[in-house]
Amino acid sequence: MLFLTPEQHEIRQRVEALVRERIALIARDIEATHAFPQQAYEAFASEKLFALAMPREYGGSEADATSLALMVETISTASPSSALLVFPTNAVLRTIAITGTREQKKRLFAELKSGDKPMGFCLTEPDYGSDAAGMQTKAEPTEGGYSLSGSKVYITLGQHARYYLTFARTGPGPQAGGISAFLVDREAEGLDFGPPEKKMGLHGSITSQMYMNKVFVPENMRLWAEGEGWRVLADVANPMRVWGAASMALGTAQGVLNDCLKFAVERRLLAEQGIAFALADMEMAVEACRSLNYRVCRLVDDHRSSARQVESMVSMAKCFAADTAMKVADLASTVLGSEMAKADNASAQLFRVAKGIQIFDGSNQIQRLIVARNLAAKARDI
Ligand SMILES: Cc1cc2nc3c(=O)[nH]c(=O)nc-3n(C[C@H](O)[C@H](O)[C@H](O)COP(=O)(O)OP(=O)(O)OC[C@H]3O[C@@H](n4cnc5c(N)ncnc54)[C@H](O)[C@@H]3O)c2cc1C
Repeated sequence: MLFLTPEQHEIRQRVEALVRERIALIARDIEATHAFPQQAYEAFASEKLFALAMPREYGGSEADATSLALMVETISTASPSSALLVFPTNAVLRTIAITGTREQKKRLFAELKSGDKPMGFCLTEPDYGSDAAGMQTKAEPTEGGYSLSGSKVYITLGQHARYYLTFARTGPGPQAGGISAFLVDREAEGLDFGPPEKKMGLHGSITSQMYMNKVFVPENMRLWAEGEGWRVLADVANPMRVWGAASMALGTAQGVLNDCLKFAVERRLLAEQGIAFALADMEMAVEACRSLNYRVCRLVDDHRSSARQVESMVSMAKCFAADTAMKVADLASTVLGSEMAKADNASAQLFRVAKGIQIFDGSNQIQRLIVARNLAAKARDI
């Protein structure tokens, strides 16, 4: 990044120091224990990273997409699982900042400004992942609010969040038309979580099924009007894909490259052309990805592009970054050889993370569909 604002620069430096001093050394243990990364949580809470996207007026840092991207990327170079503590959290805070009424922001941010409260994002259902608009979780009107029943799957943070931005059906449709967005309190009666999924990678990130059995949500915890949940998702939350998943992928790719470079120096392999070329290809891929990511973050931050353009660019960034992380992690075996066959090898761990990023936050196939759909619309104007 050539031109960072003083605020963006400050956030990057602060997170770099935190990662160097408190995360890098424990990153492998975080992956090995398959548990909630308590030490990373404490490190981030001490720096109030859970309130980064909150408006300054309410006690946060009002971080823009570029600043959030720098935070997520930097953490992911060492521990992508730890990045999943602050990524959904800030996605939810940003959504509240944009869609919340003054009363909602005052009330919720008064509690959340402590900067130590993780937040969950709940969209995916057992039978509705890519086709999220078909969701079946119901929110039925009741005295003073709604009663939510249904279940969500693959919920990052599981039971460890304070509130959950949850999408549920308040009307019959058509499809996305009948969906509303709610903030569900962790303490609400009828809310429960399954045990953490045993995943291929991202072992230090908790992912659980969420069960809602007549969970009462007061009306003042609905974001925007009834039936406008899909707009909350598509118009407001969607850019999280560039500063969230794409930045996680970029950091993951950079982490693999750093690991391989260190190994090549230690083993005096840099003079071998086969190894040097693999490293050069990794470096080119990472820098191309970084250029696209930062450009798209800037596009999100300057609010001057059309919704279609932002949607397309965000999808391109997510898909390209996840594929880049996969490509770089694949190339790592050229450098590391048998070291990479060990389950706890750092690059092997990141290889499994890269595959996960291709799947979550809208699979790469779905991102390609979005880009192709917008391209077809553009073609009509040529
Ligand atoms: C580690 C991890 C963390 C996650 N965290 C969260 C979270 O916090 N909150 C949350 O709500 N969700 C979360 N998810 C869920 C994630 O967003 C979904 O897994 C993802 O959207 C894909 O949905 P699915 O797995 O149901 O795949 P499906 O929709 O069942 O798709 C199966 C395959 O078919 C492809 N496919 C589907 N439709 C099409 C189409 N029209 N054209 C071409 N290909 C298609 C998909 O790309 C995929 O490869 C997480 C997932 C993972 C792995």
